Formats: sequence, structure tokens, C-alpha cells
Amino acid sequence: MKFGTKAIHAGVEPDPTTGAIMTPIFQTSTYVQESPAKHKGYAYARGANPTRNQLQKSIAALENGKFGLCFSSGMGATDAVLRLLNPGDEVITSNDLYGGSYRLFTKVYERVGIKFHFIDLTDAVNAEKYINAKTKLFWIETPSNPLMRIIDIAACVKIAKTHRCQVAVDNTFASPYLQNPLDLGADLVMHSVTKYLGGHSDVIMGALITNDEKLHQDLAFIANSCGAVPGPQDSFLVLRGIKTLHLRMERHCSNGKKVAEFLRNHPKVGKVYWPGFADHPNHAIAKKQMRDFGGMLSFTLKDDDLNKAKRLMESVQLFSLAESLGGVESLINHPASMTHASIPKEERMKNGLSDSLIRLSVGVEDAEDLLADLEQALQKA
Ligand SMILES: *Cc1c(COP(=O)(O)O)cnc(C)c1O
Repeated sequence: MKFGTKAIHAGVEPDPTTGAIMTPIFQTSTYVQESPAKHKGYAYARGANPTRNQLQKSIAALENGKFGLCFSSGMGATDAVLRLLNPGDEVITSNDLYGGSYRLFTKVYERVGIKFHFIDLTDAVNAEKYINAKTKLFWIETPSNPLMRIIDIAACVKIAKTHRCQVAVDNTFASPYLQNPLDLGADLVMHSVTKYLGGHSDVIMGALITNDEKLHQDLAFIANSCGAVPGPQDSFLVLRGIKTLHLRMERHCSNGKKVAEFLRNHPKVGKVYWPGFADHPNHAIAKKQMRDFGGMLSFTLKDDDLNKAKRLMESVQLFSLAESLGGVESLINHPASMTHASIPKEERMKNGLSDSLIRLSVGVEDAEDLLADLEQALQKA
């Protein structure tokens, strides 16, 4: 089945009791049993819910995975993965990471004795220097947030496997439409479903997908034991969102390209970070592992001035100044004070995340209107 057909049909069956073509919202906390040891596969809704089950099957199919699990947020999903580790274990991850992941790693898990190496993984070979007998996991985010760096997933997998480490990929920015890490050998894919999969800025949710049954069972045990599960209403909204994922992504990609090229040619714009440019440092890897380049990009102003960047962000009319990404509407964001405020300034600057950096999540509006909005805002900057 091709991607668009899967987005609409995979994992989703008409409701067996009524034939309803749309999965019903099973708004229930518990299920009546025939006898103490006998039920129809559902006992208590923290463990399983039919709306959530269909969504899990759908998301797994989109990632070419056998097993999917949904969580109450992307961070809830990431947390479940880290709970697989023990004190003393080590993790290799990149130095350009979603701020919330960085916070979870450093503020919650370092405290219980897990060590994280935040390194430059744009050349996978760098990982070799940090691997030792305690290394258990690679946590890879590509494209990265917000600098759109690209990490070679297959190259990391190759290194990780020779040292018996597992590889988890945060595939939020690409969405399953653009990139399928399991096909490249990764053990696990994480999504902030909140973003492209939900697609309408109305749900917070996370997901984990794997082909490894043991890993899935361990994660399902954590999901049920720790309880960060999503509700049926949210599951329904994401099932609905996924049906247009391929259509939305096509437009995100074509609009993203137009906005990236417009900015790059603009006299007031400094650097534009977008993996679709032929001179992006890892363009060849992006081309190899992604189907297109997406609608996320960031840029600086030629005058690298915080106040000018602020004026621009206050002058846009169609773009909304907000955190998050991947919805139908275009958003503008200031990583240093918003999504990445939890990373100390010194760390940020070291990794190239300057104060005037602006991130765009290009939506699915008409490109001409988006360009006109950016033009008028750049004039005021
Ligand atoms: C938003 C985001 C997360 C966290 O997901 P939530 O659903 O907000 O908990 C993790 N990784 C990336 C790349 C994100 O953009």
C-alpha cells in the first residue's frame, strides 16, 4: 500500500458493532466482563481503549512498524524510553535537540545517574569517541530543532549496532511522510503527535513505534504502569488528522521551499537553515533518507540584532507568534526565548543557536500570502 492509501485506511476498520466508518470515541474508563478472568480484550482503559488501539495501528503502519504505542505527550513517550535505562547507563545524543528533551535528560534523568553525551552527530563517526561499555542508547533528532541539521540515521545505526546499542529517532520534524527510520535500521521511532500527525494544533500526544516485540512489550508495560496514556477524544482527533497527512505534507513541502528561497534572496535576511538547499552541509544525506525537505526552517537577519528580530515577529499578520509546529497554520517562533529557553544561553551560543534566530513552521495557506506577509514584516524589521 502506498503512503496516501495507508494514511486513510491502514490499521483502521469500520466499527464491528455498527459499521460506523469513522472510529467511535470510546469514552469509557472500564469495561463489563463476563466473568472475573474473561473479557473481550478490554478490562480498564489505562491498559487499552479501542479508539487508541486503532490509532496505534494506524501510526505503526505509517512508520512501517509492527507495533505502535500512544502517550499523553511527546515528552511522555520520550520518558517511557528513558525508563528502560538503569543508573550508570549512558546515552549518546546530539547537541541540537528539542529543548524539552534536553530538559528531561539533564534535569530529570541525570539526577538518577544516567549520563548523556550531547555531541555533534552531523558526522556520525564522532559517536565512536564517546561509546563505552555503559552506552545503551542513541537518541537522534533529525532534522534537528531549530537549526535543521541532518544526522545520517543509517550511519549511526551501523556504529550503534557494532556496540550493541539501541537507536531511537525523534521523527517529529520529518513526519512519517518524509522519513521512516525503522527502514534505516533504527530500533524505535518517537513522534510528538502534537505536530504533523495531529496536524491541526488541537491535541497534545506522543507515540513510539518499533518492530521489536520485546521492546514493544517493555514499553507497553511502562505505559500501563506509569500511566501517561492519551484519552479517546484526542485519539479520535489524531485519527481524523492522519487522513490528510499526505495532502498536508505535500503543501508544507512546496510552501516551505518557496519561503526558504524567498528568504534566501531577501536583502535583509542573513542565513537560512533549510535542508533542501544544495549547499546545506548534509544536503546529500537529507536527499538520501528523506522524500522531500518539509516546511520547517529557520533564519537570522543580516543585522544580527535581537530588537529587529523582535520587531519582525511582532509585525507578521498571517504567521502567528507561537510555540509548536506542524499545524495547518503558519507559525513564527523565537527559539532563544520560547522553545529553547530551558537551554542555558552559553550552551545555546556554543551550538550556533543565536539570539536573533527565527524559526518558521510553514503552514498550508497560499504561498503568495505567506510571502507577502514576510515581506511587509521584513520591511518593518
Ligand atoms: C514538540 C516536540 C517534542 C515534545 O512533544 P510534546 O508533544 O510537546 O510533548 C519532542 N520533540 C520534538 C522535535 C518536538 O518538536
